Amino acid sequence: MAARQEKKLAEERNHQNMQNGTKASQGQWGRAWEVDWFSLASILFLLVFAPLIVYYFIMSCAQYQCSLTDPLLDLLRGNKHLSDIWDRTPMLTSGAAGIYFLWVTFQVFLYMSIPDFCHKFLPGYVGGVQEGAVTPAGVVNKYEINGLQAWIITHVLWFANASFLHFFSPTIIFDNWIPLLWCANILGYAVSTFAMIKGYFFPTNAKDCKFTGNFFYDYMMGIEFNPRIGKWFDFKLFFNGRPGIVAWTLINLSFAAKQQELYGEVTNSMILVNVLQGIYVLDFFWNEAWYLKTIDICHDHFGWYLGWGDCVWLPYLYTLQGLYLVYHPVQLSTAHALGVLLLGLLGYYIFRATNHQKDLFRRTNGNCRIWGRRPEYIECSYTSVDGARYYSKLMTSGFWGWARHFNYTGDLMGSLAYCLACGFEHILPYFYIIYMSILLTHRCLRDEHRCSSKYGKDWKRYTAAVPYRLLPGIF
Ligand code: NDP
Repeated sequence: MAARQEKKLAEERNHQNMQNGTKASQGQWGRAWEVDWFSLASILFLLVFAPLIVYYFIMSCAQYQCSLTDPLLDLLRGNKHLSDIWDRTPMLTSGAAGIYFLWVTFQVFLYMSIPDFCHKFLPGYVGGVQEGAVTPAGVVNKYEINGLQAWIITHVLWFANASFLHFFSPTIIFDNWIPLLWCANILGYAVSTFAMIKGYFFPTNAKDCKFTGNFFYDYMMGIEFNPRIGKWFDFKLFFNGRPGIVAWTLINLSFAAKQQELYGEVTNSMILVNVLQGIYVLDFFWNEAWYLKTIDICHDHFGWYLGWGDCVWLPYLYTLQGLYLVYHPVQLSTAHALGVLLLGLLGYYIFRATNHQKDLFRRTNGNCRIWGRRPEYIECSYTSVDGARYYSKLMTSGFWGWARHFNYTGDLMGSLAYCLACGFEHILPYFYIIYMSILLTHRCLRDEHRCSSKYGKDWKRYTAAVPYRLLPGIF
């Protein structure tokens, strides 16, 4: 079996590396081959606690008006037992299971059955069949980019229902929020477990599988690089984009509808959260072809981290601001609202412009203009598993000359704006900026470790030319 052979090869490779005293050699850039104790401990922590964290946040809103401390204090003081909290938690219902099943099936249908038509009439939009980056095994996958179309069709139907069809209430998502959480968990665990089994027994590309020998690490970080069913059903592209990100804006709309139902108005804070996060989501789909070149698709393997994360973590924790505003309908002063809007738009501009500069630079192989000038760059090379040598370039001008991850800085500014829209009464809506700061700092370090293994001394030349990671002059 190809995957077994690859597993054996991986073990031999690890053994050889240990003998040679090297951690990364030719073609081994990508996810770790060896698992240190810290990584293992972090993974075990996340596997156990991440689902509990999601439950805790959602339960705090449903039972404690979004206070994160009150449930703990109640438990510590003996006012409540865990069973009291659990007994008040809505269970899985057949209604929620039906909604979730229809939702995922509809998204699979849109993904698989309707080739992209948006690129035929939207100037500047790149859709249809596109190629991903070269994998460590030297494979170039093709993708059907039709996320924008799926997003538009889904939202047109949503608004048609809310305006005149009235098949269901637009508050349907909020009204089933906890029962839907159980459905999302079932799908998240099912898809991660399936991906693990598939990696062992019928991988899409055995040479791009990675086995560390540690069950938990492999389950969490994934074995297969680009698992697929058939030629086109790509797990990474589907799960990240469709049940997670298409849902993001619908969830926010449902929260706004709930505010309207409960208070007879939608607050300016809710509108800001809907608009700013809506821009971010639309940007994602407008640039879905670009997304094929981001770390998620280019470097991460598909395991629980992406599978469960896309089904549960993303839709439930990225939407906390909207959920909070249902329980706390904050009406911001004009100055506060304008400040949030400006910060959000500036963050978005930096995020998009920085990503665009890199994309343009890579697409044109440096034959472009950045801020009206020819880009500056460092030539670098790397080797894939089969020993083939490739050449690449790292840009050192534009925003990429200010810091090595200025796109993350813009993303963080936008994230902070969503949180600030919720006022200052509770910490819960600020979870997003805390989480994004940890995620993007960790991602930054992880990416740099990988790039350093990939490019070797060329990466050192690059970090000497652009010494800061996120904040010029500081970090
Ligand atoms: P990047 O788009 O920054 O991609 C990093 C890769 O770009 C590196 O691995 C390297 O790849 C290449 N690269 C690095 N430096 C340069 C350079 N100077 N010139 C040219 N190429 C370079 O990272 P991500 O994929 O992590 O993020 C993409 C966007 O998505 C970011 O804006 C981020 O904020 C956002 N994001 C949002 C998340 C969310 O949950 N909201 C989560 C994660 C990301 P190579 O091997 O090709 O050289």
